[in-house]
Amino acid sequence: MAKKKLKKLVINRDWCKGCGICAAFCPIQVLELDRMEKAAAVRPEDCICCRMCELRCPDLAVEVIIDEREEVVEAQSEQEENNEK
Ligand code: SF4
Ligand code: SF4
Repeated sequence: MAKKKLKKLVINRDWCKGCGICAAFCPIQVLELDRMEKAAAVRPEDCICCRMCELRCPDLAVEVIIDEREEVVEAQSEQEENNEK
């Protein structure tokens, strides 16, 4: 399966109430609460695009935007590798 690549982690700071659920559910500790008690992506490069933060946020303040283009490119190269076998 193609590895998903994060394009952007959008956090709506107006909607975030700082409950920390997203940070608690993130398996890679990508998210933390900042000084303003709002969720912030501190290690976006480690994100595995599991969407747990987006699904668990009670205020729908997180949106995980996946780079579909990268996914297609990787899927194509996997296909090519399979064809060569
Ligand atoms: S789960 Fe939602 S409301 Fe809670 S800290 Fe994360 S972004 Fe903010
Ligand atoms: S998509 Fe998954 S890995 Fe990425 S920030 Fe959200 S919970 Fe963490």
